[in-house]
Amino acid sequence: MPTRVLLVDDEQAFVSTMAKRLGKRGLKVYTANSGQEALDLLAGGENVEVVILDVKMPGMDGIETLQAIKAGYPLLEVVMLTGHATVESAIEGMRHGAFDYLMKPCEMDVLLSKISQAQSKKAAHETKILEARAQNIALRRGD
Ligand SMILES: [Mg+2]
Repeated sequence: MPTRVLLVDDEQAFVSTMAKRLGKRGLKVYTANSGQEALDLLAGGENVEVVILDVKMPGMDGIETLQAIKAGYPLLEVVMLTGHATVESAIEGMRHGAFDYLMKPCEMDVLLSKISQAQSKKAAHETKILEARAQNIALRRGD
């Protein structure tokens, strides 16, 4: 199964270039040009695993979007994308539950490796929850 990534950035040219590149590397890429668009897409039930989220966007910025994502989908991993001017915001994002951050322009290999790390973390987290649930059911049954 290809890793499912949602790319959120207000720069449309950047989004389409990155989506093309990530798609060539075998990822399933969803795109959004605003925080609201990203939330709408997630609410539509797309089974995204990792979100790549621009810090600086008009309207709902990256931090607000991150908080909304984490409130609705706590297991979804988010990597913040930032320029030099907004590194502090990216770091603040990590305090709000972002997995990591990357500086723009980012190397494709670095981005791919972060996506893969974030996806593994999400998968491990979900496995742990399933195991805990199974164990709890067994305990209640008295197995
Ligand atoms: Mg931006």
